[in-house]
Amino acid sequence: MVLECKHVWEHISGYLDGTLDAAVLEDVQKHLEHCEICSAILDSTRNILILTADERVFELPLGFSERLHARLEAEMRGPRGTGEEIGEEGDS
Ligand SMILES: [Zn+2]
Repeated sequence: MVLECKHVWEHISGYLDGTLDAAVLEDVQKHLEHCEICSAILDSTRNILILTADERVFELPLGFSERLHARLEAEMRGPRGTGEEIGEEGDS
């Protein structure tokens, strides 16, 4: 049976916990071998588990989201925060 990505995602926590059936585990591993997306998701999920593994709550620094939003707004307005004169089309 060929697994689709969304099926793999459903199995990722079981994969990391080692609770998958051997047959499912094999299918998931086969998929991960050729799918970069699912491999990346597996990696980041594993990293999150490592961060939270020792009962410490992983908190973002105070002000982090404010700074992030300010940054995103600045990015959306333009890379340099200055004018929006993109491209100069000579019309002569
Ligand atoms: Zn995939």
